[in-house]
Amino acid sequence: MRILLVGSGGREHALAWKLAQSAHVERLICAPGNAGIAAERLARNSRLVECAAVAAEDLPGLLALAREQRIDLTVVGPDNPLSLGIVDLFEASGLRIFGPSSSAARFESSKIFSQRFMEKYGIPTAVAGTFDEPVAAKRFAASLSGGCVVKADGLALGKGVLVCASRAEAERAVDRIMVDRQFGPAGSRIVVQEFLEGVELSLHALCDGRVALPFPASQDHKRALEGDRGPNTGGMGTYCPAPFLEGAALEEAMRRILEPFLRGCAAEGIDYRGILYPGVMLTASGPRVLEFNARFGDPEAQVYLTRLQNDLVELLDASVSGTLERTVLTWSPLASVCVVMASGGYPGSYPRGKVISGLDAAATLPDTKVFHAGTALSDGEIVTSGGRVLGVTALGRDLRAAQSAAYAAVERIHFEGAQYRRDIGNRALGARPTAT
Ligand code: AMP
Repeated sequence: MRILLVGSGGREHALAWKLAQSAHVERLICAPGNAGIAAERLARNSRLVECAAVAAEDLPGLLALAREQRIDLTVVGPDNPLSLGIVDLFEASGLRIFGPSSSAARFESSKIFSQRFMEKYGIPTAVAGTFDEPVAAKRFAASLSGGCVVKADGLALGKGVLVCASRAEAERAVDRIMVDRQFGPAGSRIVVQEFLEGVELSLHALCDGRVALPFPASQDHKRALEGDRGPNTGGMGTYCPAPFLEGAALEEAMRRILEPFLRGCAAEGIDYRGILYPGVMLTASGPRVLEFNARFGDPEAQVYLTRLQNDLVELLDASVSGTLERTVLTWSPLASVCVVMASGGYPGSYPRGKVISGLDAAATLPDTKVFHAGTALSDGEIVTSGGRVLGVTALGRDLRAAQSAAYAAVERIHFEGAQYRRDIGNRALGARPTAT
């Protein structure tokens, strides 16, 4: 098969690496890709993965590329092309593509849509209100005892969520989003949720419109600094499995989310194909969904795809065809840890073009894979080209072993200003010491 992969980050490198292992793949083109993706070889014929200079949001350009290269299946990594309607466009042109349509992707592109859906179909979530003007929003925020979280309805590069500790902070947050429009048109409507305390986890399920196959739980580390301090980022590291939600408890949590989700989709005529990624808070009264995403998490994809044992092409193809019923997901018994190495200054402004050394040394370590996120080739050298630069990922017989292996690889890699958290996975290790 000829596959087109859309995107250029660490998630897409993990997807490219896993797709390249499939015996079904004869050619893999990534648009636009990155330096790490361009170095992957296909298991079937040793051909290199090709990178095409077409942006992930250039829908007509991607369609032309898919037609020109006679692509059999397109795989979409990021959320933007999904909400822009890449799946609708390709399907209308008779092309097979993995991911939700723009209408199904509203679970991510509209927090109001998701909140109302969760309430209507009984998916456990936070107490919340949805508003299109500030006065009622502030009144509702004041009625919530304790803190609240004010969220812009639309996509705001993951930034339109303001956590507030007091009534005054909530009022300022409503004004920032609705009056000052700090997040642009995404803030014309908002959701105000009660503040939930607990352990935050990432859940994922592969859906084909009728069936949803749950993944193990994983945990991201959103804050830039150790001990969950500092500004929010796209994600500084992940691990899987997450011991906070395993076995029967995970099955029960998934059942309480996925059954009403599928029932609601059927009732509303939503054909949800692709990855559903609920962000949840494990509260004292059980898991509550904070938000839905309509694609793999980044860097969750890195830990999931290093543990996944199925052929990825077969899975994605079954999602598109609606035949997941016959599929069983199989996972390596090993644990996986991904440590993100970022440019100095991230998530604020940061320099680009810093030469990265030590990648070859890290590549010789067993059960270790360095996924590239923001890298480029310049005069034959791999240089930084983004905020999150690398996702250094390692497998181990338990979380502690995977964590040690990931940091051993991180220590071999250098670029000026590199920053990373040294505590990825610590929360799980503190929660339940693993055997040595
Ligand atoms: P979201 O994009 O909706 O997942 O929100 C971004 C981050 O804000 C989440 O990863 C949580 O850390 C935090 N957050 C969102 N909603 C809530 C809530 N209701 N209670 C506590 N924290 C929240």
